[in-house]
Amino acid sequence: MKIAVDGPAGAGKSTVAKIVAEKMDLLYIDTGAMYRAVTFDLIKKHISLNDESGVERYLKNLDLSMKRNRSTGEMDIFINGTKVNDHLRTKIVDQNVSLVSSYRCVRELCVDLQKKLGEEYDVILDGRDIGTVVFPDADIKFYIDASVEERARRRKDDKKHQDTRPMEEIKQDIIRRDEFDSNRKLSPLKKADDAIYLDTSEMNIEQVVDFIMARIRNL
Ligand code: C5P
Repeated sequence: MKIAVDGPAGAGKSTVAKIVAEKMDLLYIDTGAMYRAVTFDLIKKHISLNDESGVERYLKNLDLSMKRNRSTGEMDIFINGTKVNDHLRTKIVDQNVSLVSSYRCVRELCVDLQKKLGEEYDVILDGRDIGTVVFPDADIKFYIDASVEERARRRKDDKKHQDTRPMEEIKQDIIRRDEFDSNRKLSPLKKADDAIYLDTSEMNIEQVVDFIMARIRNL
């Protein structure tokens, strides 16, 4: 079973996908975390993010992996054996991840890992290109959207991000990231033709989860 959940930043994809995974005994894979982990490590190692060939050289010595954490049931993410989960939701990673994820070498690395996990387990993945590129043959695809104001509000309330900036600043960051992700050449953020579109601006988490579960049960 492969379930694709795509959509713009802050739409609540991961919250919803995590709950659906738990209820349906699927493995939840946060694909954004992979791009964030690479971005975090590049910044930590002071490698220029604008130099694509430098990034490619760095990737040659990079071991990116994900393992299910037995106590939380969620996936931990590792860079060369070190767990990096707690470093991925910072402002600096937020502001640079779109550039890093636009590079072919980075996308190939992350997509390979996503495909491997998808072959091994029953999965629900959230991201930008799951339904279009990673698993175009997914059993079911969702595109979760919401107004940018609502997404900024959700991001501000998201404890993982601990974003205390004014709402307008968060909103502008989201707009910038979506624009970059939607207009890049490789695997841009895009609804797959056969994805179910859901505007969640006026919905709470429970309603979104119920909608998705009903569609999956109907398969
Ligand atoms: O989902 P999240 O906001 O954590 O994703 C962070 C960034 O990673 C996105 O803005 C996008 O640039 C990149 N990404 C991607 N493809 C995916 C998932 C995330 O390019 N499948």
